[in-house]
Amino acid sequence: MANTYVCPQCNAVVAAPVKDVKRKGVLLCAAGHKVHQSGLSFPGAFIAGLFVGFVVWIITWYVPGWVQQLLSIAMLFRLASIVYWLVLVVRGVAWISKPNPTRALGASSLGMGLGSILSFGLTGLLYYMEFHKLAG
Ligand SMILES: [Zn+2]
Repeated sequence: MANTYVCPQCNAVVAAPVKDVKRKGVLLCAAGHKVHQSGLSFPGAFIAGLFVGFVVWIITWYVPGWVQQLLSIAMLFRLASIVYWLVLVVRGVAWISKPNPTRALGASSLGMGLGSILSFGLTGLLYYMEFHKLAG
């Protein structure tokens, strides 16, 4: 399903989407609706989130204090992505009730949103404790 575009409004796979002349990076179906691509699955998003979180956390052990503090702040700023992840979840719930191929797109969207939120929740806690220790 990766690299396939789906129009949830037409509920169809769009083989050759066209670029929107007004909005950069937006692809449209033949009827002019915005098309979407399925992203990572739940385990994919969860593992990717955990991996990034833990790798940066391990790096913070070997760098000077100020770099460590900057990295911790940067990782806490990933919290801003929660808005995007929540959009993925809401979309996923809306699309999953429809027939395929929109249903598959919804499942992917929901999985990616929940996987990202869960992995951030777990690693974010580490950074919060680390930052608290440095600040306090
Ligand atoms: Zn369409």
